[in-house]
Amino acid sequence: MTSRARILEADKRHVFRPFTPVEDHASEDSLVVVSGEGPYLVDADGSRYFDASGAWWCNHLGFQHPRIVAALRDQAAHLCHAALAGATHESAALLAEELVKVAPAGLDRVFYTDNGSTAVEVAAKLAFQYWQQNGRPERRIFLTLSGGYHGDTVGAMSLGGVESFHRVFSPLMFEVRRAPDVMELGSFEAVIGWMLDVLAKEGDRIAGVVIEPMVQAAAGMRFYDAGLLRALREATHRSDTFLILDEVFTGFGRTGPMWAADHAGISPDLLCTAKGLSAGALPFGAVLVSERVYHGFGGGPGRAFLHGHTFCGNPLGARVALEVLATYRDESVLARGAENAAHLRAAMARFERIDGVRNPRAFGSIAAFEVGPSGYFGRLGWAVEREARKHGVALRPLGNTVYVVPPLITSTPDLDFLLAGVEAAVRSVLLEADLGGKPA
Ligand SMILES: *Cc1c(COP(=O)(O)O)cnc(C)c1O
Repeated sequence: MTSRARILEADKRHVFRPFTPVEDHASEDSLVVVSGEGPYLVDADGSRYFDASGAWWCNHLGFQHPRIVAALRDQAAHLCHAALAGATHESAALLAEELVKVAPAGLDRVFYTDNGSTAVEVAAKLAFQYWQQNGRPERRIFLTLSGGYHGDTVGAMSLGGVESFHRVFSPLMFEVRRAPDVMELGSFEAVIGWMLDVLAKEGDRIAGVVIEPMVQAAAGMRFYDAGLLRALREATHRSDTFLILDEVFTGFGRTGPMWAADHAGISPDLLCTAKGLSAGALPFGAVLVSERVYHGFGGGPGRAFLHGHTFCGNPLGARVALEVLATYRDESVLARGAENAAHLRAAMARFERIDGVRNPRAFGSIAAFEVGPSGYFGRLGWAVEREARKHGVALRPLGNTVYVVPPLITSTPDLDFLLAGVEAAVRSVLLEADLGGKPA
C-alpha cells in the first residue's frame, strides 16, 4: 500500500484543492483518508474521525453503506455508462419514476445532471427558454436572495450571492434581482417582503424565483420560516412565474421531511436535487419539473432543450439513487433522522450555556452556532476545527460558523461522541480566546 507520506507528498506537489488557500494547503496537517465506516473517516495513520461535514453535505447514509456498495457493484458488472440521448436504460428510467413518486406533487419529469451546480444551471436555462418560446419573452430576470449558494459554475454563481466566494467573478455574471441581505434588513420577514413587493410590481419581468428553501446553507446555516416560503409560492402563482427550489442541500431529509418544501406544504415548478440523491457515493444530480414546463419544449426541434451533459443519467449514479430511495423506505431513514434532530436540538439548547457560543440552533439534522462574528474569513472557527481533531472530529466551519451535518442514520452513541468532541473543542478555544483577552 502507498504510504501516508507518499500520498501527502504527491498531493502537496500536484493537487489543486477546492476552497483551500494555497498557504494552508502547503502547511496544513491534512487527513489522508483511506476508508470510511458509517459516519467516520479512517486516516492512513489508523486514526478515526467523525466527519461532521458529511463529505461536504452529501453523506446521508454513512460511508460505504452495504446496500449502496452492493448496488454499485451490481450495476458496474453490466453497464457503467451509456448516453441518455437516443437510448435509455433501466436505472435512469426507473429512477425517474421513483423520484416522481417521492417528489412534491406535480413534478412529473426528471432531467438528469451530474452535480448540484449543473442542476441549478439546467433549471435556470429551462425557465429562461420556456418564457422565450411561450409568449412571455420579457420574463428574463431571476429574483434571488443575498447569501444564496447554488454552486460554483457561472450561472449558479450569478444566482447565488455569497460575496466572499463570488465577488471577483461579478463581471462574468448575468444580471439578477437580488434582495438585500438579512443582516441589512434585520429579518427574513423583511427580506421575503422585499421579494413579494418586486413580484407585485415587476412580476411580469421575472423568469423565476430561485432560492434555497428553509436554510441558507453556505451563508452560515441561516434558517427561516415555512410561512415565508408559502408566501413566495403564493406570490409566484399570482404573478404566474416559476418558483425554483434548490434542494441540493436540503433534500433527502436533511431538514426532517424528504424535502424542505414539505415544511411549507408547497410544490415548486422546478426542483434541483443532488448531494443526498446519491448519498455521497457518486456525482449525480437532477432537476424535477412540472408537465407544464416539459410541454413548453414541444412543438418542433427548434423548441427542444438543447442541453446535455456527457454523464446525464449515468447508470451507476442512477442505480445508486434508486438504492438510496429503497433504503430510505426499508430503513425508515427519515424517522431515524427525526430522532437525531431532537437530539441535536437538545444539544444546542445545552450549548446556550457555554460562554462565547452565539446563537446555537438546530433544524432537522443540521446543528450550528457561531464562535465569533459571522463571515467566511473568521479564524476562530478554524481554531475549533484544529482542536476538534484531537477529539476525533473533523469539522469544516464556514468561518466562525461551526456546524455539523451528520448522516441521518447516525446512532445515538456516535452522535454523542460528535457533540462531546465539538463541545470540548469549543470550550478550549473560547477559553484561550478569553485568556488572550482579544477576540479574533
Ligand atoms: C452544494 C450545493 C450546490 C452545488 O452542488 P455541487 O454538487 O457541489 O455542484 C448547489 N446548491 C446548494 C444549495 C448546495 O448546497
